[in-house]
Amino acid sequence: MDLHRLRNLHHPDLLRARIEREGVERTTLSFYRYVRLTDVEDLRNTIYQEWESLGVLGRIYLSQEGINAQVSLPTANLENFRTALDSRQAFQGVPWKIAVEDDGKSFLKLAIKVKKKIVADGLADDAFDVTNVGTHLDAATFNQKLEEGALVVDMRNNYESAIGYFDGAYLPKADTFRGAIDEVVEMLAERRSVDPVGRPIAAPQILLYCTGGIRCEKASAYLKHHGFSNVGQLHGGIIDYARQIKAQGLESRYKGQNFVFDERLAERITDDVVSTCMQCGTKNDRISNCQEVTCNILLVQCEACAERYAECCSPSCREIHLLPEEVQRAWRKGRSTRSTKTKAINDPEGLRRRIREEEEVLALNGTLHPELSNIIQRVG
Ligand SMILES: [Zn+2]
Ligand SMILES: [Zn+2]
Repeated sequence: MDLHRLRNLHHPDLLRARIEREGVERTTLSFYRYVRLTDVEDLRNTIYQEWESLGVLGRIYLSQEGINAQVSLPTANLENFRTALDSRQAFQGVPWKIAVEDDGKSFLKLAIKVKKKIVADGLADDAFDVTNVGTHLDAATFNQKLEEGALVVDMRNNYESAIGYFDGAYLPKADTFRGAIDEVVEMLAERRSVDPVGRPIAAPQILLYCTGGIRCEKASAYLKHHGFSNVGQLHGGIIDYARQIKAQGLESRYKGQNFVFDERLAERITDDVVSTCMQCGTKNDRISNCQEVTCNILLVQCEACAERYAECCSPSCREIHLLPEEVQRAWRKGRSTRSTKTKAINDPEGLRRRIREEEEVLALNGTLHPELSNIIQRVG
């Protein structure tokens, strides 16, 4: 088998254009399952060919502990994809969640990766019972428990909850799952009432949620291991909550946008805007990446600031981004480019200070990158 063909190495713009040309309606969906998988490498190669022939694009993690998939495929092939999944015992009947807001361009290529874990959670699985998970709740029940005063906890990272969250939820400041769960355990421990020998006397109802439900599987088991007995989790995550709310005409207790890990970056759940532009401070929830490729940091950026800073996070990045491509390439030599989209500005005040300082230096010296003069002489 030609392993090289199992990879798709093309420029994003080319891939985007190809999807435009294709002109077929696509559906974005996600699913996961904790299930014992064997011969993971073989399985990867087989399903790559199978799914590629169905026009599937997306990001899939396979490991001995299961599968975690976010994909987009021609809507016409949904039924065949279902059949393909069901034909394998490990994936039989796996429930999938369909995105509510979809322009068909959520993924540009198909990437199936073999990993140690299907979620990089940083937890030692043998230290607690990962199968002792919380109660799965549907949207209506979740809403009702919120009404009854349950304590709701967001299990996502800070950059995800920045643009949307459940009303009144505890929002961890951490930017990793491991950091978030430690923070949550600490917060809950402070609120727990215990009897003289340290046993909890009242078990507060704790509700967890995340994007698609997968992180809550581990988080709820971990919390139960830490003595919190009354733990519920939003089944199917925010993605499926949005679908159920729509289908049943329920009120959405989730406000704003749902951060997603594909080209869309976010899908709108309600019209509420819960965040501010990190550059000018006005109410806004447009999330984007700094277009300077060695930076690529996530930020909330309003349209006016996107124009002012050429879609970049700072004057320094803007200066590089606006240079001719060959000068940029020469400048990038030896610098690492960030391929992940999972680092965000977490100090907007600091960013605004930096922008002010940089604009001053720029006005004074005409550049923020004195090293460029050599490069421009050489290539430009
Ligand atoms: Zn702005
Ligand atoms: Zn930047």
